[in-house]
Formats: sequence, structure tokens, C-alpha cells
Amino acid sequence: MYRTHTCGALRMEHVGNRVTLTGWVQRIRELGGMTFITLRDRYGITQLVFDEHAPKAVTDLLPELGREFIIRVSGQVRERSSKNPAMPTGDIEVSPDEMEVVNRSELPPFLIENETDGGEELRMRYRYLDLRRQVLRDNMMLRHRMAQEIRTYLDQHAFVEVETPFLIKSTPEGARDFVVPSRMNPGEFYALPQSPQTFKQLLMIGGYDRYFQIVRCFRDEDLRADRQPEFTQLDCEMAFVDQEDVLNTFEGLAKHLFQVVAHYDYQDRFPRITYDDAIGLYGTDKPDLRFGMKIADITREVQGQGFKVFDQAEYIGGICAQGCADYSRKQLDQLTEFVQRPQVGAKGLVYVKYNSDGSFKSSVDKFFDPDRFQQWARLMNAQPGDLMLILAGAREQTLSALGMLRLEMGSRLGLRDPEKFAPAWIVDFPLFEWDPDQQRYTAMHHPFTSPKDEDVGLIDKDPANMRANAYDFVINGVEIGGGSVRIHTREMQEKMFEALGISKSEAQEQFGFLLNAFRYGAPPHGGIAFGFDRWCAVMGGSDSIRDYIAFPKNNAGRDLMINSPAPISKEQLRELQIKLANGSDTG
Ligand code: ASP
Repeated sequence: MYRTHTCGALRMEHVGNRVTLTGWVQRIRELGGMTFITLRDRYGITQLVFDEHAPKAVTDLLPELGREFIIRVSGQVRERSSKNPAMPTGDIEVSPDEMEVVNRSELPPFLIENETDGGEELRMRYRYLDLRRQVLRDNMMLRHRMAQEIRTYLDQHAFVEVETPFLIKSTPEGARDFVVPSRMNPGEFYALPQSPQTFKQLLMIGGYDRYFQIVRCFRDEDLRADRQPEFTQLDCEMAFVDQEDVLNTFEGLAKHLFQVVAHYDYQDRFPRITYDDAIGLYGTDKPDLRFGMKIADITREVQGQGFKVFDQAEYIGGICAQGCADYSRKQLDQLTEFVQRPQVGAKGLVYVKYNSDGSFKSSVDKFFDPDRFQQWARLMNAQPGDLMLILAGAREQTLSALGMLRLEMGSRLGLRDPEKFAPAWIVDFPLFEWDPDQQRYTAMHHPFTSPKDEDVGLIDKDPANMRANAYDFVINGVEIGGGSVRIHTREMQEKMFEALGISKSEAQEQFGFLLNAFRYGAPPHGGIAFGFDRWCAVMGGSDSIRDYIAFPKNNAGRDLMINSPAPISKEQLRELQIKLANGSDTG
């Protein structure tokens, strides 16, 4: 028998029992003639103590042991003289009278502890060792809990879990497809799904009514920070629903997960913010609502006073940083540098200090008098002691820069509390987005998204102003999910393809199966997909999805552990009838 208990199980009530444990040697310490070993498994850590009463056969083995050896020990559970309240097993220790080395270990390439000395690359190469660290184990457990709770909750709400194929044809999520050559159909390729979008719609037409799947999706994108070429979605679809039905259903799920996974009680209805408001008030369609500091549009109030920068700008907006009127020259310079970073993109920063004594001090004192500043203060909700920060320029860009400045100030002021969750639905997205490169409209969500009933008439004359029955789910400024109520008639879907510049034959060729299915009584339907990895990360208070994926890839899309992607053999290429562009017939 390897064990009577796990390394996380023993408590005071076990004192006096003889137990057997098996686990990894976390650490060996010698202290005052005694040896202490911390023994680890998935469940926790137990301290072993070897003192003068330990049998010689046992103590003789001690010098052989090293980190990550697996040992089996049997002995008495004793009460510790110096307890460790930080450890669940910290009241006890085990004093082995038998010990056996189950397997030896080479010295691991980095410390398998929460504070490790291993760089990210090294840890990815030895991911199986990294996974032994408690932080990662906790993340994996959180992920497991999320998946289990999602399944239980959705099952209780009549959702059916259905698997959809991986070897398919291009899907319309807007990224590049990963493709797989077909040996049996030379010259032809499957595409891996960017999402199960069309299949879940077909399932609604198939009558399944409520579907979900925790499913891998594949997008061949340049990997911006914290994206993975393969990632997991919680994918869902419902029939006979309108937008509010979908939002309410998944708001219920999200509240349940807050409750059981993060022990966070969120009673209120999640705020619903229109896309226009999100952009206008927070400078982004994924606002962090853990704090206020809304953007105020002061364009009208500041123009016409002779300050060129303002007079020439399309838009001027500001935020109020509470209690920051005493910011030093240096701090203000840092903020100016921040807004001038290329990714923020502002030209300069105007500040107005609303001093505690009610006076104003600003970088534009020459142009404006205190009455003006008073007016701005009202618009920005500033009180004495606050600092107003103002940006000017093209509307969209300036709002986006203000949004980033707002987040920066939120971080500086400690307003982005990691213990807090601020969810929101962003609704009423535009249906189309103008693509300047391709000189045409593209679907902001995807081409199956329905327009608002009242906007349908605009499709020929003013597509830019059409709003969609599309929504995003955001927590703490992170986009967790998005979906839409779909088009369910062939006529509307054809119109949509046309508006997107997709010809009839292209549409038929790519999505003929869906258009055909719409002929046979397609129910009204809508759905949503959540980025499961990201949702787990946010619930765990982290912004790294990699820490929540057992075997992630690096920024270049490589798996450093198995060393993939990798060339394939001549034979494989020949079977697939593939010749490489460099002329060689080996990878
Ligand atoms: N298929 C969409 C996506 O992956 C989600 C949806 O519309 O349900 O973003």
C-alpha cells in the first residue's frame, strides 16, 4: 500500500495514529541534530521529522535523498511543538520508522516552489515540473471547478452538451484558419474551427433548443500578448430567445460561478451599457467598472477661447483623478510620457489642479480663467484636491487614449481591487465596421449577427449606423465573452452577405449549407461564447491565460516541451502531395 492518507490530510485528530504517506521530497532541512523533510503531493504538504529515535535503517537513507525524490514513509503522527498556522497540516508532523525510496530524481532545473528561480521558457520546457508547483495546481483546480460547475448548471437549465467536428471548412470569426491537408482528397484541406458557430446554429435548426460545449478553437493569429493559437471556449446557443433571454441565462451562470468558484456574492443585475456609452464614458468597449472616473466630453465648453490645440481638435475630454491635486512636476511628466506612448497615441496632456484652497493651477493658465476651470470641474465632477487630466484630438483616438489614462490612474490610485469583480454587459454594438485596407464593410461580430429590427431599413443607405443584436460580457475590463441574436431567414442572411461584399456564388460556396438549412423552418436563435481560459484567469485574479492552461504555447506559437511545430518526413509530404515552396520535399 502506498498510502493511508494524502499529504494534505493529517490533522490533530490523527495524532497517535500510524500512517503511511507517499510523495515528493519538497525540501530537506537539518536543524539541531534533526532532519526535516517536507513531503508533497497534489493535496498538500506534510512535515516529516527524523530525530534520535528514528531507526538506523531510516536515517541511513537520508543522505541519499534529494529534491523531487519520491519516498514512502510510515510512522506515528505527532503534535508539533512549533505549529505552522499557515499550513493546513501545520499542527502535526510524522515521525517515520520505515522509509523507502520509490523513485529517484535528478536535480530539477528550477525550484519547484511558488517563488521559483526558473524563467518562463525553462518552466515551459519542463511544464510537467512546473505543474507540480502549488500556484499552478491551484489554477488547474480552479479550471476544473469552473468546468464542472458550468456543466452542472447548464445541465440543470436544460442545455445539452454536443460535440462538433474539428475537421471542417473555414469559419467566419475573422482570423486566419489553421488548415489540415487531406490525404484522401489530394489538394484539398480541412480548416480547424475558429469556433463552432455554424454548427451550433445548425443544432438549433436541428431542434436541440439549448446547446453548450466546452470546446477547443483554433485561430492562426499573430500572438499578441496572452493569446493562444488554440484556446477553449464555453460555446452556447439557444432557440426561441431574444437578447434579454440570453443575457439573463448567462448572467445566472456567471453569478453562480462567482459564488461557488470565487466565493463572491454578486446580487445585483449586471449593468448593461451600450457600446456608444462604453466608448464615450470609458474610452473602450471593455470598461473596468471597479472604479468610476468616467470620461467627460468638454469639447463645447473649452473651444473658442483662443487655445489652438483645443480649437482645432475634433474632441476634447477629461477625467478627474481624486485627491491628486498635489501631483508633483515629475508625476505629471510621467503621465505626459504615458499618454505619448505610441500605443496610447496622444500628443500631449493638459492638466488642471483644483487645489484644496479652491484655486486652480494648470498647464493652460494663459488661456483660461478660474471661472472656466470651475465649469470644467463641474463637468468632470472634480472637487478641491482633485486633478483634472485633459486630452484633445480626433474623437475615437482621444477617447481610446483617455480610456488608457483612466486605467493607468485607476492602477496608480489602487482602485482596481484584485479582490473585486465588476461584471457588465456591453450591448448594441454596431453591425458593421469599415475596413480601410479592404475598402469595404466587415461584420463587427460575425456575418450571422442580426441587425436591430428598427435598423434593418438602413442596410442599403446607411450601414455604418446599423446596430446589432450583439453583446459582450466583460469582467474587470477584460472581455470574457460575446455573442448575438442570429439571422434566421435566408433572405436576411443573403442581404447580409451582399452588404459585406460577399457575392452570391461565394456565399453559396462557403455557407451554402447554412443558407439551405434556413429553408427548413429555422427557429429564431441566439447565443454566446466565452473565452474559458480567460474567464478562469480572471476568476483566479490573474491576467495570464497561460497560467490556466496545462500545456500552453509560447508567444511564437511553439510548444517548447514537445518542440512543435516541427518538420514532417518526406514520406508524409509525398502522401499528402505537398511540395514545399523552397523546393525541398522534406520539411
Ligand atoms: N462564435 C462567436 C465567437 O467565437 C461567439 C458567438 O457569436 O456565439 O466569438
